[in-house]
Amino acid sequence: MDKEVYLDHAATTALSPRALEEMLPLFTARYGNPSSIHEPGVRAKKALEDSRARVAKAIGAASSEIFFTSGGTESDNWVLEGVFRQKGGGHIVASAIEHNAVLKPLERLREQGCRVTLLRPDALGRVSPEALEAAICPDTILVSVMTANNVVGTVQDIPALARVARKHRVLFHTDAVQAVGQLPLSVRGLGVDFLSLSAHKFGGPKGIGALYMRLPRRLPPLIDGGGQERSLRSGTENVPSVVGMAAALEETVALLPETAPHLRTLRDRLIEGVRDIPGVWLTGDPADRLPGFASFLVEGLGHSVHLVNALNERGFCVSSGSACSASANTASHVLEAMGVEKELAAGALRITLGRENTAEEIEALLRCLHDLIPLLRAKKPAMLF
Ligand SMILES: *Cc1c(COP(=O)(O)O)cnc(C)c1O
Repeated sequence: MDKEVYLDHAATTALSPRALEEMLPLFTARYGNPSSIHEPGVRAKKALEDSRARVAKAIGAASSEIFFTSGGTESDNWVLEGVFRQKGGGHIVASAIEHNAVLKPLERLREQGCRVTLLRPDALGRVSPEALEAAICPDTILVSVMTANNVVGTVQDIPALARVARKHRVLFHTDAVQAVGQLPLSVRGLGVDFLSLSAHKFGGPKGIGALYMRLPRRLPPLIDGGGQERSLRSGTENVPSVVGMAAALEETVALLPETAPHLRTLRDRLIEGVRDIPGVWLTGDPADRLPGFASFLVEGLGHSVHLVNALNERGFCVSSGSACSASANTASHVLEAMGVEKELAAGALRITLGRENTAEEIEALLRCLHDLIPLLRAKKPAMLF
């Protein structure tokens, strides 16, 4: 195949042409600083606040509840660190399958005296509200559970989990970076206090994201300076990226009624087509999973990076797990927490679809997988050095 077929949308997505079009003038003619009081500044401020309203509307929030950040990682760090500082200590509960943008800050907080409980999900990657309730203690200050997982695509029952936290008067955060743009979401429906999102996972630019904070909740700033974002997140606002994020989110949410069934059809065909290759299993929840998310364990290959490379040579861009752990020769902490043995977990394969993908591409990929997997298995001894 001459054309590159991109099937790694959980790692990042292409910038939507509409978002780019809206961004371009902000790099050139409309370059003002939103803090300036002259006309270019006023225009930039207006672009910033219009974007805030668009982002808020897309997730059912109020504009005053949206704070712009440099991405999902910063939003996650802000919540964990911010709540811990605000409360002056305490106990935090998170799932063991969170992204490292949650797990790594928790490791650091632990060194500062924070007590951390990591909830193990079941074999399908689901976190149970009962397990959460059992973990909550009198000194619990925060619960953090992701809306959808980035390794296996399992979607959590966030309303039920958030209800448990609220019953015990504990704040609830969800990392919705994988879910925003893939599922219809409203912060009120979810019942969360904090929600992280990242533009480059839904057709926006990289390096921009947002944190939703339910009013009247306010976190102390991580970054101090000029007092931007109502003094909570200093630094001259990235106006072009904020506008690109708003445009991409609005477009993605508007297209979702068409996109979701399209993605589900392609995903289900892919899962069904892979099923008759011996020694290949679906990971994650077969029902409650992101619409474009297919993830497998391929037995007998050693590390799946060999398969990912072979597919790449044939023009298919897929992943061996999460983008951040793909290069490290380590099994995913997510699969490990789900009870998958290390050796088997090394065979993880993640194929994540976007609205531009077609049925023909999936058929071509399936033919390739049917050819390659037996071939690589036969070659395996040679590949082990
Ligand atoms: C990609 C991702 C992040 C990190 O977001 P960035 O904007 O790349 O910092 C955090 N959490 C999840 C679940 C992700 O998939």
